[in-house]
Amino acid sequence: MECDKCDKEAVMHASYSGAHLCGTHLCLSVDKRVRRRIREDALLSSESTPEDPEKWVIGLSGGKDSVVLTHILDETFGHDPRVEMMALTIHEGIEGYRDESVDACVELSDDLDMRHEMVTYEEEFDIRMDDVVEDDPENMAACAYCGVFRRDLLEQYADEFGADKLLTGHNLDDEAQTALMNILEGDVKQIAKHFDASLGSFEDRNEQDDFIPRAKPLRDIPEKEVALYAHVKDLPAHITECPHSSEAYRGEIQELLWDLEENHPGTRHSIMSGYEELAELTADRYRGSEQSELNECEQCGSKTGSSVCRKCRLIESINAV
Ligand code: SF4
Ligand SMILES: [Zn+2]
Ligand SMILES: [Zn+2]
Repeated sequence: MECDKCDKEAVMHASYSGAHLCGTHLCLSVDKRVRRRIREDALLSSESTPEDPEKWVIGLSGGKDSVVLTHILDETFGHDPRVEMMALTIHEGIEGYRDESVDACVELSDDLDMRHEMVTYEEEFDIRMDDVVEDDPENMAACAYCGVFRRDLLEQYADEFGADKLLTGHNLDDEAQTALMNILEGDVKQIAKHFDASLGSFEDRNEQDDFIPRAKPLRDIPEKEVALYAHVKDLPAHITECPHSSEAYRGEIQELLWDLEENHPGTRHSIMSGYEELAELTADRYRGSEQSELNECEQCGSKTGSSVCRKCRLIESINAV
């Protein structure tokens, strides 16, 4: 099948739009959608100037999503004096997985001449995910520990580096899964939080004094197109799956979405457009009710709804083994 835009061979057919695109035109199309998302989200504040630029910290794992995000942001804003960007990698201590993806992060940031910092669970918490999985004191999935630690470090270090925004590489599939999980779990407060933390335009979100605002500029792009983009551009992305990947419920939802998408192309896009509108309404509904309840963790000082934060409680339980 030929590309719709030129006479080269198409590398993809997007059922949701009917488009057949070659590698070059797929990449152009992805670039265009990401830039539109950045504009619609008002990602770059109109108040930032060359004298007082915004600082963006990009969560760079070395996987295809964050590598593609970093590449596009660099192409778009690399020479814009109103933005300063740097990449932050979290090393969880997973043998044969993270070491290689860290190489990808180093290669990419060298290529782009972008500042790159790495923090490790081992240095910060004196734990490694490989050991946590083996001991498993809370009888939980690996990702349930790992997600708490990663969020904590991203937040803490983005703050330390003076970030105005924290950018992550979540794609359309990731976000549609999260949206559906929140809806199926009936967790309306979580939907409200999701909006204020990382969805929607910065002009519409509630102020989050306690947390660094997050943005997900790839959230319109299906996972497969992100992977093809990384491949066509020959970006240094590490594609192996984490050996502890274990989010069973998310896996179920992912398969459900694949089936739905196959029979009803465009389902992921329609879930997200409806969800975002709904999330904005729920965020308005809960405005102010959550933030006042937050206080500082007695042990580490991070923001929490109880006296000791979840990260500190998990570390205590791991150390007690
Ligand atoms: S898949 Fe789970 S355990 Fe592996 S790095 Fe991601 S969150 Fe951590
Ligand atoms: Zn083409
Ligand atoms: Zn704490």
